[in-house]
Amino acid sequence: YFSTVTPRTARSAALFDTAARVIPGGVNSTARAQWAGWTPYPLFVTGGTGAWLQDVDGNRYVDYLLGLGPMILGHRPPAVTDAVVEFIRNRGTVFALPTEEEAVLAEKIIAAVPSVEQVRLCNTGTEAVLYATRLARAFTRRSKIVRFEGMYHGFSDAVYWSKHPRIDEAGPDHRPRPVAQGPGLPKGVEDNLIILPWNDAEALAEVLATRGDEIAAVLMEPVMCNTGCILPQAGYLEAVRDMTGRHGVVLIFDEVITGFRLGLGGAQGRFGILPDLSVFAKGLGGGFPVAALGGRREIMALVADGTVSMAGTYTANGIAVAAANAALDELSGAGVYDRLDEVSDRLRGGLGRIFEQAGLPAFVVGLGPLMQVWFSREPIANYRDAVRNADQALFRVWWENMLARGVLFHPGAYENLFVSTAHGLDEVELTLQAARESAADLARL
Ligand code: PMP
Repeated sequence: YFSTVTPRTARSAALFDTAARVIPGGVNSTARAQWAGWTPYPLFVTGGTGAWLQDVDGNRYVDYLLGLGPMILGHRPPAVTDAVVEFIRNRGTVFALPTEEEAVLAEKIIAAVPSVEQVRLCNTGTEAVLYATRLARAFTRRSKIVRFEGMYHGFSDAVYWSKHPRIDEAGPDHRPRPVAQGPGLPKGVEDNLIILPWNDAEALAEVLATRGDEIAAVLMEPVMCNTGCILPQAGYLEAVRDMTGRHGVVLIFDEVITGFRLGLGGAQGRFGILPDLSVFAKGLGGGFPVAALGGRREIMALVADGTVSMAGTYTANGIAVAAANAALDELSGAGVYDRLDEVSDRLRGGLGRIFEQAGLPAFVVGLGPLMQVWFSREPIANYRDAVRNADQALFRVWWENMLARGVLFHPGAYENLFVSTAHGLDEVELTLQAARESAADLARL
């Protein structure tokens, strides 16, 4: 640890040793693993309340990890917890038959998200993306999917490529080649993938002009959230929408992170760009596992008539539907997103000023309650800019210093800081105080 004040985490260390004997890597997701940055071990938590998380050693943190996004209402939001407990106590969990509440939820999603005319539920973002790409292929009768270096769309074989490749192995900037995110994928999957740099309308135009009739879908995060936070450049999403439409290519927005976070209408509502299909997960369930695939009625018709099967024992289970109905009611309250934006802007602006005053080569990028700090002297528009320009080691020192001062976010420079409706100006002020002290320490390095 480089930090000047080290938190006491002895019990996390002991629990990690025990866990690592019976759980590979000691954790149940690689995002919590040592190689993802949680070295020498992740914090083990007892639980959270609102904007705060507590670890097993009794340390309390202002939480900007927020479960990697789902806890948009903070930890244990009473309305969601009560709705779930009430439903499972009085009604049950899994029926393999529909309940009345499913259409109630679908109506809310359709009312909230501009492009969604019909919507199906599933359990995780990975599943929803898998269905979206399958549906796009069935609808267009084409095979290839365009996706972008630095993004992540879940862990299914077809898209588990080119999230964070070594750029010396990944081909030219303008036309990257697919690089598996790890071993274990069958040969040939990549034949159906076209990898492009993001924020580069010309690269997409070229591929559509030469191979447009082979391309089923363009799959993208409307804000890149899996290589830190990178915003779309002016006119880029408009150009993508226009080009995909002209080539009969299904535009899929993966709003797993941006959905119900950048506003009730997600990124598409914020930017006013309507994709053909959209995928939602994290923000939708207030911390419970639920995801959704929605879009144009004409495409969803293939699901309606059974041409494309969307199945799953646990889809639209009682917990998921009760949680999402309650979460969306909370998020639909008057002024909820205005306040989220106000608190987040205070944090973003405050951090920016602190870095400037400390003379650190750092800036904050984001929109509403989604942001990341970049330690870089150059602007970052895509994955390769991040690799070339961002100082990951300095980010790490920053993370350790903030953690030691009671502020928690993911140790990975390519992750995000999330803000919840439970974060108030008090938490932001505590965070900025920790940031002032940490920035002063970093400036002395
Ligand atoms: N898409 C995006 C943009 C994501 O960030 C993630 C998860 N971080 C996924 C898909 C996969 O979602 P899940 O972890 O629920 O399968």
